[in-house]
Amino acid sequence: MSKYWSKAVQGLEPYVPGEQPKDKVYVKLNTNENPYPPSPKAILAMQAAADDKLRLYPPPTCDELRDTIGAYYGLKKEQVFVGNGSDEVLAFSFMAFFDPGSPILFPDITYSFYPVYAALFHIDYQLVTLNEDFSIPVEAFWQPNGGIIFPNPNAPTGRYLSLAAIETILRKNRDQVVIVDEAYIDFGGESAIKLLQNYDNLLIIQTLSKSRSLAGLRVGFALGSAELIEALDRVKNSINSYTLDRVALAGAVEAFKDEAHFEETRQKIMATRQRVMVSIEKLGFEVVPSTANLIFISHPVIPAERIFRELREHGVLVRYFKKPRIDNFLRVSIGSDEEMDCFLTALRDIV
Ligand code: PMP
Repeated sequence: MSKYWSKAVQGLEPYVPGEQPKDKVYVKLNTNENPYPPSPKAILAMQAAADDKLRLYPPPTCDELRDTIGAYYGLKKEQVFVGNGSDEVLAFSFMAFFDPGSPILFPDITYSFYPVYAALFHIDYQLVTLNEDFSIPVEAFWQPNGGIIFPNPNAPTGRYLSLAAIETILRKNRDQVVIVDEAYIDFGGESAIKLLQNYDNLLIIQTLSKSRSLAGLRVGFALGSAELIEALDRVKNSINSYTLDRVALAGAVEAFKDEAHFEETRQKIMATRQRVMVSIEKLGFEVVPSTANLIFISHPVIPAERIFRELREHGVLVRYFKKPRIDNFLRVSIGSDEEMDCFLTALRDIV
């Protein structure tokens, strides 16, 4: 705290990202990164983009990337917004669609950035208590609200909500914006994109950080009606015209063109997840059903915090949240088969 800080800054409780350790090399399963490299074509495009054109500002409207993403999903460029990671797109969305004094709804166990954005933009919120099995009680979204946001699949649980359920939420909330954060959708879930044609109030947010192995590039995007995208543009153009640099734009465009690479890596991750879930259950763990590149697990006897510490001593880093209801769970990202074998070997030593 400093006397020089504004009152707004003094009041912030920022999000704490997962650890990126430097002390030693871990089997790193704590931030849901993709274990496989990005598309080689995307890397070549980024190398080519690192040329003398970097003296020029990047195109502020990002037309080529928006066209590419639009064409990929059968949408128009006007229905696509791109930003510096989906975290930025989420932050802009809180500003564009939610108002102070009209409480929004999101699950009590969810991506921990949502309450941080809510506090930053003075948006009140009401938490929707998840069912015992961590599924979302859809009826809770029928109460009056100033907007709705939830990830599908949810984080950190990996639980998936059906499109039929999402459609009910949209139908019951025609006058509010419903944001579906699909950061993990490519690992087995069905995107709500097909609902866009019937619901102007739906905003879908996705990222290149997970299924396209580009967490380090910082590219996320939103899909929605032109009306919603225009609001995001207004926010962006009131803060920073150039949120995506030339290298990121070039890499992201190529990543969307390399379908074979995308398909191969996501299939590998889903197959590994299936194998690991079976092994973990055999070790006596409860495993929450997952449609994401992560699993959420709990042991009936050994406290999660102890398993977390002992895994770390074995050189395996997973995520532990010291929060009510989930403080006996560990979130484990799905790494390569070799990484997951290290994890399972360490776990067999511990339990
Ligand atoms: N949404 C959810 C649910 C997430 O778990 C994450 C990753 N931590 C993000 C959004 C943000 O991803 P990025 O900013 O890398 O696109």
